[in-house]
Amino acid sequence: MKGQKAMPLEIVTIPCLSDNYAFLAHDATSGQTALIDAPEAAPILQALDDKGWTLSHVLLTHHHWDHVDGLSGILEKHPAQVVGAAADAHRLPSLDLQVVEGDSFEIGGEQVQVLDVSGHTVGHVAYYMPQSAAVFTADSLMALGCGRLFEGTPDQMRASLSKLAALPDDTLVCSGHEYTQSNAKFAITVDPDNPDLKARIADIERARAAGEATVPSILALEKATNPFLRAADPAIQAHLGMTGARPEAVFAEIRGRKDRF
Ligand code: ZN
Ligand code: FE
Repeated sequence: MKGQKAMPLEIVTIPCLSDNYAFLAHDATSGQTALIDAPEAAPILQALDDKGWTLSHVLLTHHHWDHVDGLSGILEKHPAQVVGAAADAHRLPSLDLQVVEGDSFEIGGEQVQVLDVSGHTVGHVAYYMPQSAAVFTADSLMALGCGRLFEGTPDQMRASLSKLAALPDDTLVCSGHEYTQSNAKFAITVDPDNPDLKARIADIERARAAGEATVPSILALEKATNPFLRAADPAIQAHLGMTGARPEAVFAEIRGRKDRF
């Protein structure tokens, strides 16, 4: 509601397929509900039923099948407005609203800002909801990792991650996969002396042993522990034998090592 401080949206994390996450973001005042990504219809429809919510929007992050294949089954029951990147309109499901970097629209009273976070794919977008302090990053910034570079360059991904890292520290990072434990095994090889990383890995192991999700995560913790946000860190540079190197080159080295890991 304009002129009033909006309540944060209620965010629900939905495990889909073998390791994907979709999210619901619900505005209690208006009743509007956004789905972010549509990996699989059944668990998402179930979550909507459990909450008694009706979808108003589906926000797609990128064209990969494991983020869009559930869409038609969801739209049959919830004929919502589908939002996605204009740059990818040709390879996304049919879009009602095509968006580019800098665009914004509203879910209930919440402003949603569009960020271009190309790298994993070219045309990958993230959705940032500042009043709720949440960003939906899918396969760009991930918990302790970042997406593989299928289409973009290391420089593109680094620029995308820098954009996300500039958001407020308390931002909730809602990413697309439960890859955190395997990301942790890699992270410790490039940043072995980082006490925050060691503590986080202990938390991750405990959470996974208990069957708990490690997504979403908090941006401040990503900045302290995610090697893909830490290419300028002197300890990582020293460990890689790249002291004083350009952060772009260090990032490319870290991404290359992860690809071969
Ligand atoms: Zn993907
Ligand atoms: Fe994915």
